[in-house]
Amino acid sequence: MQNLWRDADAEAEVSRYVDRGVNRDLALRTYTTRLLGSDPRLVLHGGGNTSVKTTVTDLVGDQYDVLCVKGSGWDMGTIEPQGLPAVKLAPLLKARKLDRLSDEDMVALQRANLIDPGAPNPSVETLLHAFIPHKFVDHTHSTAILAIADQAESERMSREVFGPRMGFVPYIMPGFDLAKAAADVFDQDPMVDGLILDKHGIFTFGETAKAAYDLMIHYVTVAEDFVRQNRRNPLVPARLPKRLASVEEIAPMLRGALAHPLGEGRYERFVSEFRSSPEILNFVNSDTLEVMAMRGVSTPDLSIRIKTGPMVLPAPDADALDGYRSVLDERVAAYVADYTEYFRSNDARDDVKRTMLDPIPRLTMVPGLGLFGHGRTLRDAKIAADLGEMWIEAARDAESVGRFEPVSRPDLFDLEYWSLEQAKLSGAKPKPLTGQVVLVTGGAGAIGAATVKAFAAQGAHAVVLDLDLAHAEAVAKDAGNNAIGLACDVTDPASVRVAFDATIRVFGGVDIVVSNAGAAWEGAIATLDDALLRKSFELNFFAHQTVAQSAVRVMKQQGTGGVLLFNASKQAVNPGAKFGAYGLPKAATLFLSRQYALEHGADGIRVNAVNADRIRSGLLTSEMISNRSSARGLSEKDYMAGNLLGLEVTAEDVAQAFVHQALAERTTGNVTTVDGGNIAATLR
Ligand SMILES: [Zn+2]
Repeated sequence: MQNLWRDADAEAEVSRYVDRGVNRDLALRTYTTRLLGSDPRLVLHGGGNTSVKTTVTDLVGDQYDVLCVKGSGWDMGTIEPQGLPAVKLAPLLKARKLDRLSDEDMVALQRANLIDPGAPNPSVETLLHAFIPHKFVDHTHSTAILAIADQAESERMSREVFGPRMGFVPYIMPGFDLAKAAADVFDQDPMVDGLILDKHGIFTFGETAKAAYDLMIHYVTVAEDFVRQNRRNPLVPARLPKRLASVEEIAPMLRGALAHPLGEGRYERFVSEFRSSPEILNFVNSDTLEVMAMRGVSTPDLSIRIKTGPMVLPAPDADALDGYRSVLDERVAAYVADYTEYFRSNDARDDVKRTMLDPIPRLTMVPGLGLFGHGRTLRDAKIAADLGEMWIEAARDAESVGRFEPVSRPDLFDLEYWSLEQAKLSGAKPKPLTGQVVLVTGGAGAIGAATVKAFAAQGAHAVVLDLDLAHAEAVAKDAGNNAIGLACDVTDPASVRVAFDATIRVFGGVDIVVSNAGAAWEGAIATLDDALLRKSFELNFFAHQTVAQSAVRVMKQQGTGGVLLFNASKQAVNPGAKFGAYGLPKAATLFLSRQYALEHGADGIRVNAVNADRIRSGLLTSEMISNRSSARGLSEKDYMAGNLLGLEVTAEDVAQAFVHQALAERTTGNVTTVDGGNIAATLR
């Protein structure tokens, strides 16, 4: 492993922070914490922490010896000094004399001794950092170290690989007991450079930031070299079908199988992040994949993200895909049953009251294809996929030099259901459309952009389709929540197919489609150019049909219902003079929505339309507004507010109507009028 320490960088950080009143110790601590945090093979999504013992002066001028230790919620790769809150050292050291200290009391002790009462909670491994006398203490869950620590004979191998300068601490869950045990091991031989924590990770320490960091890189490199030189159990490839199904074929089925039924046609949905690489394929294609997956996660804190480990699927045979969905349902059911039994049997060990977390897998391995991470948000799905990649490396390397044997299930349970570990997951309440994917055509126009934004605000991941890629991407960026923009010509079925495939690649499927793209052409009906009418039908009718067909295809693969929404127009029910070219296909599209509602209600797919009127957009430009209002002898304002309510109707009003239709769980075949009131255009 490469040592990233550079004297010049370190000094630059020191001078940058000293200017802001941060002392040299903390500045260097911040620098090497970032070096460690920037490598996923050392630190991944919360798996590691660092500290420095230094002195600080409080607001009234009293000086304290403190431990500045990583605070929860901070990412080591981007940490700032305030992410390493200062805790008074003396009370922490005093705690070592206690026989026991509950988790709640440990947290209370740490918080009560913060110099800044508003600082984040110090790491759950704070006491261990405090009990080691060295000034700088570094801790990681290095993947290479886990290949040695996750062994059936981890202590023997650890001593063989790392030699006498590295202590070995048997597995104990983080907290007071582990801190005391680690300190006892250190006291037996204070000459050690660090400690290997069985089934967990590594600590190194030194008098300078550089010394502790150098030792971390050194011992990780020793582990890497050992694995490279001693590999003796190569992976044996399993037999794969002649023709493998594609990710685009599998992902919607998998997403549907994972959706957690809440009853009454409702589901808790997840999005999927797909990954593949030669390393991933080499592992998922091996004949030991299922055996390895059963052994569990490589370091216990992964359990809060990927539970007891990955779910494994059979390789998908492109020539026999018919029964694959039911195989997926069976595999998910088996995973859920296994997780439920894991909870039941371990929960029964004591009287503590716990509630089982949802038992849905967050990591899926598919021979021939790769791996999927799953989460309520794309961010969580990506984290699960990241952990999956590191799990593969640790499991593969451990097995290659011995027998991969990570933490036991009872120990894993204790950590997964430890209140302090659960606190690491953000308590953000899901929004009404969290876990759902919405695709909006004509997404860069006024109504499309407002619709994308409104759905993203409800928690949906949005896909913005537009002829204009740059505009689609700009709208996606503005909407946030990992929205993406794609170029798509909705009048070209091949282009629509590519866009749906790309959506599946990024999110795993789609739940809501807003078929919104359209354009208006004018002309008196009796003399209308036939080509123009046909062109309008291509965009204002057939494109809606193409998009709807793709949507229904994917929604049926998922088998969890869906929502199909159309932008009809006031013209669909109330013709305007010289607007036949626009109104006729829109009337057909309105009828199309009813046809889909009729034929796919039984699939749980709800189909609705919005008929809006007089919205400022590409269809009704400022120039058109100016011409029409002056032709009628009205001010622009009065023209735009020429409805029963006397108020201008905006793209945001239309967007809210689409969101409302998506949320109205018992509404299908509906047309929602968004025109401020126009009796001549009312339905029925
Ligand atoms: Zn740890």
